[in-house]
Amino acid sequence: MTRPRSYQTEAIIIKKTRLGEADRILTLYTPEMGKIQAVAKGVRRPRSKLSGHLELLTHSLVSLARGRNLDTITGSQTINSFIALKSDLGFTSYALYATELVNQFTADHIENHPLFNLLLETLEQLGQGGNSELTLRYFELQLLSEVGYRPQLHHCVACHQPLKPESNVFCSSAGGMLCPDCAPSQPLTCPLSVNAQKVLRLLQGSDYSTIRRLKMNRELSRELEMVMRDYLRYLLEREVKSAAWLDALREPAKQTALDREVV
Ligand SMILES: [Zn+2]
Repeated sequence: MTRPRSYQTEAIIIKKTRLGEADRILTLYTPEMGKIQAVAKGVRRPRSKLSGHLELLTHSLVSLARGRNLDTITGSQTINSFIALKSDLGFTSYALYATELVNQFTADHIENHPLFNLLLETLEQLGQGGNSELTLRYFELQLLSEVGYRPQLHHCVACHQPLKPESNVFCSSAGGMLCPDCAPSQPLTCPLSVNAQKVLRLLQGSDYSTIRRLKMNRELSRELEMVMRDYLRYLLEREVKSAAWLDALREPAKQTALDREVV
């Protein structure tokens, strides 16, 4: 059976790269085809009809024509431009972080409908305000589950005993928690307070409607950020992908946002 020469898909624009004088290569995250790359011709010209519908962090209905190498975008209709999200530099940089994680942890043409839904839901959540740090930690844990790196938070990854409510440690290279007896056998572990462990488990096992009600102080927030960053960095470096951009996130939000040409 031959594939049709043109097709239409929902997509979130997760990355854009300049191509020649006026074109761009866009990275789209789609529900049925996963991540795809496509050419948007003339999209950098001021009067391009396409450009407004193909901005980063936009949820669009995109029409494409198959090409020998890359497919070409022939039309696009915005479904949600996430205006509230894009009008705030902080929110924008959080959203770019989320899309970059999706980009780094996925290969082209691998369908992952739950991950598409997660990303869409995360952009919506970030645009609604609330605790962005919690939203990001939730997103990270759910993303890791979807791409096969779900950390073990309930049992010790070495002796497999259920963890007691005490100060256990997280070990990135082992992919989860270690009890105090097993902790000394592994280098580079990160001790976690009982509260941090509770919140991580909650984030891993619930949905946005539950975590919206969570309260978290600065110290706890920082603890969770550090452990997740360590684990993500470990996974990205092991996969020989760029982890350098993770560091850039500590810089002021505007830097990240502007570097990536949001507008
Ligand atoms: Zn153990």
